Amino acid sequence: MSNCIFCKIAVGEIPAEMVHESDSAVAFRDSKPVTATHILVVPKDHHESAAAMALVDAQGLADMFEVVGAVAQAEGITETGYRVLTNVGHDAGQEVAHLHLHVVGGQPLGPLLSKQ
Ligand code: 5GP
Ligand code: ZN
Repeated sequence: MSNCIFCKIAVGEIPAEMVHESDSAVAFRDSKPVTATHILVVPKDHHESAAAMALVDAQGLADMFEVVGAVAQAEGITETGYRVLTNVGHDAGQEVAHLHLHVVGGQPLGPLLSKQ
């Protein structure tokens, strides 16, 4: 998608602190981290949500979870634990309409990421 910030990060048009790359996904640090470790795992192809991607590229979606595991290992949070979440749509507060998995950890997270 021409005007999508995560499409641009995926191809290197916009800089980001990359931590991992696979054939079909990239992982980079969130620019406004909410936890000690906050990585975004993003498919290289544009999909608006995990559900949308599952319909057309289930293997690509599975690959994203392999990247999650690799990122957790590299960040040293495999043993301590972490949370994976994805916001979908308005009510979830999705800011960027390109699927991304938040990998958050590096500290105790409590029962929810945040309460409103
Ligand atoms: P959402 O609310 O859509 O689930 O999360 C979007 C996330 O992307 C936010 O945590 C935000 O800080 C992050 N983000 C937005 N723009 C950029 C950017 O240009 N670079 C990086 N590294 N993260 C971004
Ligand atoms: Zn995109």
